[in-house]
Amino acid sequence: MNHEAAVSNAREIAERVLVPAAGQNDKAGRFSTEAIDALGKVGLLGLMLPAEHGGSGLGPRTFAAVVATLAEADASVAMVYVMHVLAAATIAAARPGSAVAPVLKDIGAGRHLSTLAFSEAGSRSHFWAPVSRARRNSGSVSITAKKSFVTSAGHAQSYVVSSLSPDGAVATDSTLYLVLAGARGLSVGGAWDGMGLRANASSPMALEDCEVLDGLQLTDDKAGFQVMLNVVLPLFNLASASVSLGICRAAVAATATHLKTARFEHLGQSLGESLPTLRAQLATMQIDTDGLAPRIDDLIDHLERPRETTMLRVLEAKAAAGDVAISVTSTAMRVCGGAAFAKHTGIERLFRDAHAGAVMAPTGDVLREFIGKAVLGLPLF
Ligand SMILES: Cc1cc2nc3c(=O)[nH]c(=O)nc-3n(C[C@H](O)[C@H](O)[C@H](O)COP(=O)(O)OP(=O)(O)OC[C@H]3O[C@@H](n4cnc5c(N)ncnc54)[C@H](O)[C@@H]3O)c2cc1C
Repeated sequence: MNHEAAVSNAREIAERVLVPAAGQNDKAGRFSTEAIDALGKVGLLGLMLPAEHGGSGLGPRTFAAVVATLAEADASVAMVYVMHVLAAATIAAARPGSAVAPVLKDIGAGRHLSTLAFSEAGSRSHFWAPVSRARRNSGSVSITAKKSFVTSAGHAQSYVVSSLSPDGAVATDSTLYLVLAGARGLSVGGAWDGMGLRANASSPMALEDCEVLDGLQLTDDKAGFQVMLNVVLPLFNLASASVSLGICRAAVAATATHLKTARFEHLGQSLGESLPTLRAQLATMQIDTDGLAPRIDDLIDHLERPRETTMLRVLEAKAAAGDVAISVTSTAMRVCGGAAFAKHTGIERLFRDAHAGAVMAPTGDVLREFIGKAVLGLPLF
C-alpha cells in the first residue's frame, strides 16, 4: 500500500462505515468494532509497521492524512486508530530479544488492536511519571496500577503499559510493558461516558498484581521515558493535530451546508444569502482551518528531516491545533444557532470532540509550560 492507496482506503471506510454510524455511536457511547474490522481488512492497522511484520512501512505524512480523513467523519474512531498506531510503533521498537513477533504479525495482518495505558490516577496528566512500580520476580514483573483513561479499554487485544522500574529512583525511571487482553489481574473500571469522544471507550483500567513475562518487557529498565519522548510524543502530537484538522474541516462543511439549506422563508433567502455576519464568521473558520494544514505539513517536514527546531514544532503543533479546533467549532455553534444547539446539524458532536485535544496529555497548558521553558533554555523535566 502506498500513500495514495492508504488515504483512498481511509476515505472509502470513512464514507461507508464511519459517517452513517458516527452520530448514533456518539449518542450511545458505543465503540465501533465495525470500523476497526474495516481498517484491519485494508491493511491500515499496519500502516507504519515495517514490511517484515506485514506492515506498509509508511511514514508520518501518510499517518497524518489518514487520521485527518477519519476524524472528519468520526473523531472517536480516529483517536482509537491513533492510539493503536502509536502502540504498534512502540511494540515494533521493542528491545532486542523480546517476544513480540506474534503480536506484530497479527497487527500487520489487521487482526490485533493495541493502545497506550500511560496516564495514572496518581500522576494524572503527567503521563511521564507513573506512580505505580513494577515488582521484579524471577523471569517476570508484577504490576499493580490504576490507569485513569485508556482508549479502547476492553476492546483492544493488548495494552502498552508504563510503570516505574523496580529499582527506579526518580519519577521518570519508567519501563514499558506489553500486557495482553485477558491477562490475570487486568480489568476495565466501568463504561466510558465522556463529554466528547464518547465512542472511543476511554475507561479507567486496573492492574492488580498483573504478571508480565520478561519477553513482553518492551524497553530496558528505566528506558520507558526515552521511548515516550522519542517514539510516542512526536507521532501523538502530529496525530492529535490531524484529528483537530479533520474536526475543523467537518465543522466548516456542516456550517456551510446549514447556511445554504436553512432559510428565512419570509425573506426568500437562505441564512448564508441573508446575513453577512454569518458569512464573515464562516470565512474566519475557513481561514483558521486552512492555516492548520501547513502547520501540520511543517511538523511532518521536521519529522522527516529532524533538526534543532523539531521538538519545539512537536510541542507547538498539538497546542495550536487544539486551540484552533475549539475556536472553529465554537464559532460553528454560534453561526448555526439553535439548530446546532438542538443537535440538528451534528456540529455539537464536533464541538465536544474538539475539547478532547486540549485535555489529552500532554495538555495544552503543559505544552505551553514546556514551550516556554524550551524558549528560555530551561530543562523541560
Ligand atoms: C477522551 C480521552 C481519552 C484518553 N485516552 C488515553 C489513553 O488512551 N491513554 C492514556 O494514557 N491516557 C489517556 N487519556 C488521559 C489524558 O491523556 C490525560 O492524562 C487526562 O485527560 C488528564 O486529565 P486530569 O483530570 O487527570 O488532568 P490534571 O492533570 O488533573 O490537569 C488539570 C488541569 O491542570 C493543568 N495542568 C496540569 N499540569 C500542568 C502543568 N505542569 N502546567 C500547567 N498546567 C498544568 C492541565 O492542563 C489541566 O487543565 C485520555 C483522556 C481523554 C479525555
